Amino acid sequence: MEWDRAEPTNIKLERKGMEVCIVGGGIIGLATAWYLRQTGHSVCVVESRDAVGLGASRANGGQLSYRYIAPLADPALFSGFPHWLFGRDAAVRLRPRLDRAQWRWLLAFLGACNHRDRAASIAALAQLARYSRQLVGGLAADPRFDFGWRRNGKLIVYRERRAFESARRGLAPAATDDAPQCVLDVPACCRLEPALARVASQLIGGIFTPDEEVGDCLALCRAFERSLRAGESPARILLSERAQSIELSRGRFRSVRTDRRRIEADACVIANGVLATGLLRPLGIDLPLYPLKGYSISPKVVRDEGVPTVSVTDQYRRMVYARVGDRLRVAGMADIVGYDESAHAGRIAALTRETEAWFGAAVDLSDLQPWAGLRPATPDGKPIIGASGIEGLWLNVGHGALGFTLAAGSGGLLAAQLAGSDLPLPDSVFAIRQAAPASARGAAGARDLRRCRSAEAGNR
Ligand SMILES: Cc1cc2nc3c(=O)[nH]c(=O)nc-3n(C[C@H](O)[C@H](O)[C@H](O)COP(=O)(O)OP(=O)(O)OC[C@H]3O[C@@H](n4cnc5c(N)ncnc54)[C@H](O)[C@@H]3O)c2cc1C
Repeated sequence: MEWDRAEPTNIKLERKGMEVCIVGGGIIGLATAWYLRQTGHSVCVVESRDAVGLGASRANGGQLSYRYIAPLADPALFSGFPHWLFGRDAAVRLRPRLDRAQWRWLLAFLGACNHRDRAASIAALAQLARYSRQLVGGLAADPRFDFGWRRNGKLIVYRERRAFESARRGLAPAATDDAPQCVLDVPACCRLEPALARVASQLIGGIFTPDEEVGDCLALCRAFERSLRAGESPARILLSERAQSIELSRGRFRSVRTDRRRIEADACVIANGVLATGLLRPLGIDLPLYPLKGYSISPKVVRDEGVPTVSVTDQYRRMVYARVGDRLRVAGMADIVGYDESAHAGRIAALTRETEAWFGAAVDLSDLQPWAGLRPATPDGKPIIGASGIEGLWLNVGHGALGFTLAAGSGGLLAAQLAGSDLPLPDSVFAIRQAAPASARGAAGARDLRRCRSAEAGNR
């Protein structure tokens, strides 16, 4: 069929396996489309912006961080709560709003700040990260996927003795296929990463994980797009087209209504990041998602030996420094401030100040490429991957601070779920009913299902 974007038409995708429409052309939607196509389905991606990867996936920290997967929800956070509200350069900043969604999310988040939920999230995320690493290995070895991937290792440096000692004590024994992590004193940190010499006097020590990786998330989005458009049954990637509603028929998914046309398909995957809540609410699906706004700058490197080659995390400021192409990507912070995507000048200035102090002589700070993105966060840090409760409608959302790391695994898992084939890992922990903290789970899950059912009835 010839494709004419100018003329809105109703379309029926070509049948090969199932016809699946994916809403959202960020890293999660594109990885999902890729693995669905690998398993023989026809796919169509609907993206509201004029290019793929321009939402939260655009200029993130570049970390493929399979071992540092602990969620933000942490009992230790309670003591820092006043600082969130009033601290100027706090890593996490809360600006309370007259927004019911913000308060609901915050309450659920605080409910998840307990040892049991945290341990459950870490266990679930570790399995998904492990599977993701396996799939990313396949992508990195494929010449179609040139996204600046490197296994450069991750060095977390500490400025406070208590935090350093607690991290040392918390080091898990390496699983058989993981490289062992090393605890380093300051001279060893500087031998490993000479670019740290300038700030050595501020450091207490570091922990190095040799098998962590780095890459350019936007470049991977573009590589997915190119590869999806190529081949015998190319995917349709519809840009500048907004999904406005999900239509049901006889209680199951029927079509996606966009601002241009109606797209009929056998199944639909919702992967549109923080905006998934609005699309699903009319169906009675109440996703526990809220934006955690983060920032990055990407100054050009002017002196190679002055910037790190391993990824460096400043644990005190919760900032990451990674070489991405010919730039130094500096990313961090989490603002709980709503859906505004603008790059707040004060936060960018804070990133710039730190970068200047650490690696200032090696980068051109007159060319920063300031950016802000909205991490689609669930209260307990676990993404929601799987059936929505409405037949034919699937969810792949809520990857928070780990979307780049978990994208391949989440896409692979969803493709296996949709095919009904053997699953690569236990998936029930990512089901929508697990998305509420354990204390609220029973009632919320039942409510979600009831809402789905009444929405189906309404759509008939
Ligand atoms: C500062 C920062 C640093 C980060 N660092 C890292 C890191 O180092 N490692 C890591 O693993 N993760 C990191 N993350 C997290 C990661 O970037 C996100 O988890 C990930 O990008 C989320 O991907 P997504 O596809 O779900 O969302 P998005 O990338 O936002 O994609 C959703 C897409 O859906 C589109 N869309 C929305 N509504 C509609 C609609 N109605 N119709 C059609 N299209 C629609 C949007 O335009 C968007 O392109 C970071 C995030 C930030 C903000």
